[in-house]
Amino acid sequence: MITGVKEYIEEVRSGNLNVDDFAHEVVERSKTIQKKYSPFITLVEHPTSGNGRIKGLPISVKDSICTKGIMTTAGSKILDGYVPPFDATSVSNAKRDGGMVIGKTAMDEFGFGTFSTNCAYSIPRNPHDTSRSCGGSSGGAACLTAAADFPHIAIAQSTGGSITAPAAFTGTVGITPTYGRVSRYGLIDYSNSMDKIGTIGKTVYDAALLLSSLSGYDRLDSTSAEIASEDFTAFGSIKGLRVGIPKEYFSEGVDKRVAKEVRSGIERLESLGASCEEVSLPMTDYGIASYYITAISEASTNLARYCGLRYGMQKEITGDFESYFSSIRSTGFGQEAKRRIILGTYARMAGFRDAYYIKALRIRTKIINEFAAMFKKFDVLVAPSMPIIAPTFSEIEKLSPIKAYSMDILTVPPNMAGIPHVSVPIGKVDSMPVGMQIMAAHFKESDAIRVAAAVEGAR
Ligand code: GLN
Repeated sequence: MITGVKEYIEEVRSGNLNVDDFAHEVVERSKTIQKKYSPFITLVEHPTSGNGRIKGLPISVKDSICTKGIMTTAGSKILDGYVPPFDATSVSNAKRDGGMVIGKTAMDEFGFGTFSTNCAYSIPRNPHDTSRSCGGSSGGAACLTAAADFPHIAIAQSTGGSITAPAAFTGTVGITPTYGRVSRYGLIDYSNSMDKIGTIGKTVYDAALLLSSLSGYDRLDSTSAEIASEDFTAFGSIKGLRVGIPKEYFSEGVDKRVAKEVRSGIERLESLGASCEEVSLPMTDYGIASYYITAISEASTNLARYCGLRYGMQKEITGDFESYFSSIRSTGFGQEAKRRIILGTYARMAGFRDAYYIKALRIRTKIINEFAAMFKKFDVLVAPSMPIIAPTFSEIEKLSPIKAYSMDILTVPPNMAGIPHVSVPIGKVDSMPVGMQIMAAHFKESDAIRVAAAVEGAR
């Protein structure tokens, strides 16, 4: 079977491929992959294909994105059994172009995590080394992308790094678009002011192709930008492109070997005609504290709706409502979700609000302004995607929550600013993939994508 998306589209166009036989084979192969690496929460037994430019192309959907008639849990037991009666706009856009939804991918509960270990269902294992994490929270999406021996592109989602981290750890390409570029209608919210739907693919072309389908204005999402989609696969040259290298993204916490791989990638960009210059983003250090306060404050309000009445988990009501809700919520939510509900409620409580939530928002504005100033002088900023290679499950077990949160130091700033960023494989350390992160100004996805394509081509 052909494995590349480009070749697949050619085959379908020339009429050489029987779409039904192909779909059957994809289901069989997905089952084998599931046994080995567990990327799915739900596998679709009889996937159906639409008509369009990606006719019959296998698409997986992160489980926090609603799919009509297919269970959608956001990785949480509290939504167990919830089957949405509608498709998220991103899903209906992919279907409109012919995409075939093959399953829902594993994730940290509600997106709360960096390693896909805070999971109520399956924990995806890294296809490069099964003792290691796939990254999170879109871990299943990246796992399947890396493991698939068939053409496939994933619909993923990021709040603070959930596309970049898994893409970097699995050697795949992750695109997080500008906030508002892809409709959030039908996305189960984590932190509304930062949530973005994006893509993960084996190649830059794949991830960019699906992004073109997903993007565009949607009146069902009040934060959707009134900007038409583009053909993100029209890459172009990077000659003369101005590249900033933020020095804080290469600081102590970053594995020296990871930094070295990224530096050699930067040399490649220079040899292709880009002009690179070191810059400083001093607000970087404040990202984690400000991000986590903002994210959990929003999350704690979003999670209030899960009480065992409307969606998912239900039990028989015996006592009063108060005890019913608390029994549902104490059994339905995992440990990390509970931690975030408690901390988030505290951070926005009267008396603490100014000291935590409001202060975090002020810092966020400073981060946004810092990026805006940079993009007056530079087209893109280039840095490592993650400070480390994919950790082993036993290393993750030993991390305190604070230590685990600190792994997001390089991904939270662009996510808070809502700027587009791409993670592209740049090399290997200990046989594990390393990702390079390319950030661009709002709605300049195409700049970040063409740098990623140049890096990929040069490898
Ligand atoms: N690791 C970060 C968090 O737990 C980001 C996750 C995400 O982008 N959904 O909040």
